[in-house]
Amino acid sequence: MTTHKLLLLPGDGIGPDVMTEVRSVLAWIEKAGLASFEIEEDLVGGAAYDAYGSAVSDQAVDLAQQADAVLFGAVGGPKWDDVPYEVRPEAGLLRLRKDLQLFANLRPAICYGALADSSSLKREIVEDLDILIVRELTGGVYFGEPKEIIDLGNGQQRGIDTQVYDTYEIERITRVAFDLGRTRNNKVTSMEKRNVMKSGVLWNQVVTKVHAEEYADVALDHMLADAGAMQLVRNPKQFDVIVTDNLFGDVLSDIAAMLTGSLGMLPSASLGAPDARTGKRKSMYEPVHGSAPDIAGTGQANPIAMISSLSMALRYSLDMGDTATLVEKAIAGVLEKGLRTGDIYTDGMTKVGTKGMGEAILAELDVLADAAGA
Ligand code: NAD
Repeated sequence: MTTHKLLLLPGDGIGPDVMTEVRSVLAWIEKAGLASFEIEEDLVGGAAYDAYGSAVSDQAVDLAQQADAVLFGAVGGPKWDDVPYEVRPEAGLLRLRKDLQLFANLRPAICYGALADSSSLKREIVEDLDILIVRELTGGVYFGEPKEIIDLGNGQQRGIDTQVYDTYEIERITRVAFDLGRTRNNKVTSMEKRNVMKSGVLWNQVVTKVHAEEYADVALDHMLADAGAMQLVRNPKQFDVIVTDNLFGDVLSDIAAMLTGSLGMLPSASLGAPDARTGKRKSMYEPVHGSAPDIAGTGQANPIAMISSLSMALRYSLDMGDTATLVEKAIAGVLEKGLRTGDIYTDGMTKVGTKGMGEAILAELDVLADAAGA
């Protein structure tokens, strides 16, 4: 049986609350004989600042470099509002992303049937939706130079941001998207604005070339990003994997995520380049939500975003797609039975806390495993 190295970084606020439920799911997977895990744990964010005076220790970064996957809870909270800027809790997250060179951000939009009525769109448009937005995370207009506000000397100023992409940056994010497409429904839609942007023209050419030379077995579509935004709310189920740049990805992934409901439900992943020797990508998995100081330690946090982040790690870093599907089915089953944490509660459902939701998911895993064995 394969042993996988994991680093758990629970962080602050509800981070430790939801990470506890991930530990239980990992223990269940081991007990079921599906894999074994070598688990390291460290502090990050405000908790690391309190212990070491920095938002992440060198030791934790080393452990992250060696791990098959990092699971990250959340960081921040009012306690650390006044700490120096360079050691603020978020600096821990940014250093990990930078040191592990995580250039690909993955944001799935999955709509569980039982929650389809909570969406702002009609049930039939979002029910059973399962799409994945792959956003370039380290280039484009957020980082391009020049980036400045200059004085024009006539009482006017000029704000400048620069959208810039090199071939290698487009190639590597394109390969991530096609690799992921192959593990899903084998379809990638690339979005840019080639009608008005030179970087969009290059993006389109590079994606087309990588596809023809390396991934002709995957279906590829091109769509202008504004048309893509319309299609995401009109008929989102037409998509499987969407690949796009940093700016469009920021906007499109928020639109897609919100098709499906609460922050407490949304996982994410960030991936780096494949290791030259092992072929494994550096990776970090985290819920989209923050540390939710308003409910931290009260036992009310929804652990599903964190458990779904584990499920992404199983699928995309540990080659355990079947176990990921099992975990996702267990989550869907618990929601079908009407169990809800406060953030997704509606009248007539059964309200549970963090622990109750975690235990219900484990019980559902038992049922699914028994049924599969029978
Ligand atoms: P938040 O995501 O922490 O909370 C927003 C609202 O959603 C709150 O009402 C919260 O109770 C609720 N919520 C969030 N996750 C939930 C869950 N799993 N279950 C139930 N309810 C949930 O965002 P915020 O309030 O803007 O930020 C709080 C702190 O988190 C700040 O310090 C912020 O900087 C930090 N933050 C960290 C990250 C990260 O670690 N990646 C991301 C966003 C915000």
